[in-house]
Amino acid sequence: MILSDYKGVLVYIEQRDKEIQKVSLELLGKGKEIAEKLNTTLTAVLLGFEIKGLSEELVYHGADKVVYSDSEILKNFTNEPYTKALSKIIESEKPEIVLVGATSIGRDIAPRVAARIKTGLTADCTTLDVDAETNNLLMTRPAFGGNIMATIICPDHRPQMSTVRPGVMIKLERDSSRKGEIVEFDSQLSNSDLNVEILEIVKEDKKKANIEDAKVLISAGRGIGSKDNMAVLYDLAEPLKGEVSGSRAVIDNGWLDKERQVGQTGKTVRPDLYFACGISGAIQHVAGMEESELIISINKNPDALIFEVSDLGIVGDAAKIIPLVTEELKKIKS
Ligand code: FAD
Repeated sequence: MILSDYKGVLVYIEQRDKEIQKVSLELLGKGKEIAEKLNTTLTAVLLGFEIKGLSEELVYHGADKVVYSDSEILKNFTNEPYTKALSKIIESEKPEIVLVGATSIGRDIAPRVAARIKTGLTADCTTLDVDAETNNLLMTRPAFGGNIMATIICPDHRPQMSTVRPGVMIKLERDSSRKGEIVEFDSQLSNSDLNVEILEIVKEDKKKANIEDAKVLISAGRGIGSKDNMAVLYDLAEPLKGEVSGSRAVIDNGWLDKERQVGQTGKTVRPDLYFACGISGAIQHVAGMEESELIISINKNPDALIFEVSDLGIVGDAAKIIPLVTEELKKIKS
């Protein structure tokens, strides 16, 4: 393998029902930054059926080139055809870096592709940078239960592959004046590539809380005391048009669904306002919320770690203070 044969940054674009997933736009933002540092280009790879129309949107979000593969076989995600198509495109494009969202689809396809093209993969990165001298991608992720941050490199193989969680990177401002090259790639898929047959797709009815997109999060910790006390958080979320989230202790206690967990083994969030109520500030929790714009915390312990990452701290009983905040807010709104 001649490392210098590999050039450029490539982002796998995840679309579901022809909707580009937010994490892919976030990765285009990061990919563009890395491409500029390496003085190279950013390519977006789009797979699916009748998806060509999404290509321009990817250019508007930073891609210099879009390679799309359109086939009825790629209509729904199944791992074999998607792995085959993405591997072929990577083999043809020879990028130096490949970024994939760490979603359920990304976590399925990225390791398969890495194995097929015989390179390494660093999963669930929280920070990416490049060493401009060696062109090594510096892939940082929590390790040993979140107690250390490990920076991993892939010096002997190309491309360097990484998955990144949704909500960690920042997408670029959409610029509809950007121009880019859009090319079709024939993945030469046939029915024999379909080793799984989808008989029916049943979508979950329940309206899923998307705490990653919420501008305001009212987040509960064990200090809230009981499931009944959670009501005060919903009362505060309402006038602020926010969502309720929580620490792992709250999820483990069954006070909230797992999809609302913030942190290393939950979701990474970056709202405009993060209200931490009765949360101690363990590293695994902080890793998922420290990039929030404004952090306000209520904790009865003045030495709680959460105050170290907070813009504003209130020492006291959260279950008593939150209703007072809600009352004041309602006065302002009325
Ligand atoms: P506690 O640590 O019990 O803290 C409760 C806080 O409430 C204390 O600071 C206390 O002073 C305060 N308090 C008590 N009563 C009141 C009151 N009446 N009013 C105001 N404050 C009060 N945690 C996550 O959150 N997300 C993760 O994704 C995650 N992943 C993990 C992964 C691994 C591998 C490991 C080992 C741990 C992980 N954890 C995670 C767990 C994490 O280490 C902590 O145990 C957890 O965050 C603690 O939750 P907490 O702050 O709600 O509870």
